[in-house]
Order: sequence, then C-alpha cells, then structure tokens
Amino acid sequence: MQLMQKEYLTPTYMREFRCTGAACEDTCCSLWEITIDQSTYDKYKRLPDKPLREEINNNMIRNSKNSKSYASFKMNQHTGNCSMLKGGLCSIQAKVGETYLSQTCSTYPRVLNDGDEIEVSALLSCPEIARLVLLSEDAMNFTRSHELQTPNLRINKPNSSTSKKKQCILGLRELILEILRDRQFSLQHRLIIIGVLLDNSAKLFHSGAFEQVMTFLEEFRGELITNEELRNYDIFPSDIQIQFQVLNNTLMAHLSKFLWNARYNECMNEYLKGMQRNGSSLSESLHTYRSAREEIYEPFIQHKAFILENYVINHVYQNFVSDIHAGVNLFDFFAKLAIDYSYIRLHLIGMAAHRQELNEEMVVKLIQSYTKNYKFSDKFLTAILNDIQEQGYYSLGGMSLLIK
Ligand code: SF4
Repeated sequence: MQLMQKEYLTPTYMREFRCTGAACEDTCCSLWEITIDQSTYDKYKRLPDKPLREEINNNMIRNSKNSKSYASFKMNQHTGNCSMLKGGLCSIQAKVGETYLSQTCSTYPRVLNDGDEIEVSALLSCPEIARLVLLSEDAMNFTRSHELQTPNLRINKPNSSTSKKKQCILGLRELILEILRDRQFSLQHRLIIIGVLLDNSAKLFHSGAFEQVMTFLEEFRGELITNEELRNYDIFPSDIQIQFQVLNNTLMAHLSKFLWNARYNECMNEYLKGMQRNGSSLSESLHTYRSAREEIYEPFIQHKAFILENYVINHVYQNFVSDIHAGVNLFDFFAKLAIDYSYIRLHLIGMAAHRQELNEEMVVKLIQSYTKNYKFSDKFLTAILNDIQEQGYYSLGGMSLLIK
C-alpha cells in the first residue's frame, strides 16, 4: 500500500524567499552555534574535494555525547561569524552546492511543522523574510503544494496527543486566525478579543474538556456578531501612563542581560534618545511617548495596518499548535503575544520620536533585530511575564492596559 504524501501549506512570502547571501545585513552565520547533524558530518568526512574537506575538518568540532548536536563549526574569533563564511558567502554552498549544507543551515530561516499537512513558515530574524512578511499585503495568503525545492530540511514533530486534543488546538487556532483577519475591529481590539477567547477557554481546555471547548468556540463565533460588550472597544481598560511605565521599566530592567545583537543595539540607542528627547523625567518621557504615538506612529500604522497584522498572524500560525501541544497555558500564549506586540510598538514610538518620522525600513530593522535578539529562546518573554505578574497585571484587564 502506498502512503499518501503530505502536502506543504505555504504562505506567499515563503514562495518569494531567496537568501540574499553576501548582501545580507545580519547574516545567519553570526554569533550562533552552527550545528551539524551526523549524516552531514559523515558526508563531510567523505568529500571528494580534498582542500575543502581539510578546511571543513579544521573548522569542525565533534560535540560531547550528551550534546543535542553531533558536531558544530568553530566561530571566527575576530568576526563572530561561522568559520566557513568567506566574503559573506558560505564556502561549502559556493563550492559543492546546498545539498552539502547541514540541516541547521539548509533549514534556517524556515520552520516546518508536521501535522495533517506540513506547515511551512519562517523566522523574522532573517532580514529578507522580515521584509517579505511585513511589507506585502498578501504575504500571509496560503497555497498548498506537493514538494519543496530545498533539500535536507528539519521537520518539527508535535508532541503526541489524542485526536480530540489535536482537533481542539486546531479549532482554537482557526478561530484566532479568523479574528486576526477581521478588519472590522482594530488590531488592538482583535488582540483583546483573542484574550477574551483564550481566558474563557483555558480552564476547560487544561482540564481536558475538549468537546466543551469546541462547543464554546462555535458560541464565541456567534458572540463576535451579537455581543455588544465584546464588540465595544471602549469598555476595555486603557491608561497610557501605566502602559508606558510598565513596558519601559520592564524593558530597562532586563535589557543589559539580554542585549547582544548589533542591529538591535542601534534600534535601542534610537529608542533611548527618542524617549529622552524632551527630558528624562517620567512626565517628560510620557509626554514624548504620547505625542510620538499620536502624531507619528498611529498615522503610519493606520496607513499600513497589514504590517503588524502579518507579524501577529505569522506568529500564531507558526507557534500556537506546537506551543500548546508542548504544554504552554492558553492565557500565557496570549499574554506573551500581547507583550510582544506592545513592546514592538513601544520601540517604534521611541525610534519615531528620535527621527521624527517612521518608515518601512525602520519597522523592518526593529522587528528583525528584536526577533533575532530575543526570540531564539523563551527566556526574555518569560522574565517579562514574571515581572508583569508580580506587578499585578497578569489578567485580561492588565493586558488591555498594555495593548490599547
Ligand atoms: S539571514 Fe536570511 S538572507 Fe541573511 S544570509 Fe541568512 S538566510 Fe540569507
């Protein structure tokens, strides 16, 4: 019996992606551990090209048995780049082609999640992906295909779970994505509605009442049309002073521990100069935040509403199913999304205050470098979430204060 081959579900931006190679502003070969899987390691040992084989051998380190990766490339001590990167180009790819890249290198910046079909997406830490996702209105339209061109890709397998739970997680994601695409509500309002949805379904879901969650999802679809409270943005709390203080103070409290990416550092310098443009007391910075938001940020973002919408849709599409299968609490997923969104806006407002303008290039640079700096582990957002919990804002109302 022949098994049916799974289809690939692919957003438009992935079909347009081509690595920019030597022209890349923030190459993926820098300051990371470039890991090598065993089969690629063995392939390198048998390479017919002797000079290249010797060069690879000199730059490869076999990792200890308890490490997750079989081997890795040394980093160049002067540049911080992978030792195989020459003149901005990977010398393995240049000499013997992409079939010789390790799984880590061929897969990045792609993310492939296995499910009923294979869901393809990518990380916005890659500058070219960030441009494609954020600057095109139709970036998050999807098509299906039977094959992908790139060889040796890593496909993430979900944690095993019952079919009812799987169906429930997919049902939740489908409704979240429907809400995120519903432009009758502002994006902030859509995020709060998602908070209401996840807050109300978390208890049922985590107690295993998956059928009840599915029934609730149908009811919630109806509520989106008929429930005047849910549809009324004004009833959700807002306070710009609390918003600025909580976001700015938590960011400053953790910055020195987490900051490493040079491009993000440039954005942060602009943010800091911007927020101190009219003085550095709380009332002066708050005045700057309020005026830069109203006069520069809001007009730009209203005109390009799809930018942050695409960011959020890509995040949910890429992470919701795997995170919830891995045991993340539904409300925590929402809270981290709300913090992420609010932080991106905070940075952009500070940068806009500094330059007295906001443009696409600034948005792409900030979101790309913010993603690269913070999002290869969950540590930063978890630390921020803990602070926010301690300050008493870990609730739907508290998240509304950050989002609005
Ligand atoms: S970050 Fe993206 S564009 Fe830059 S070198 Fe890596 S894959 Fe290519």
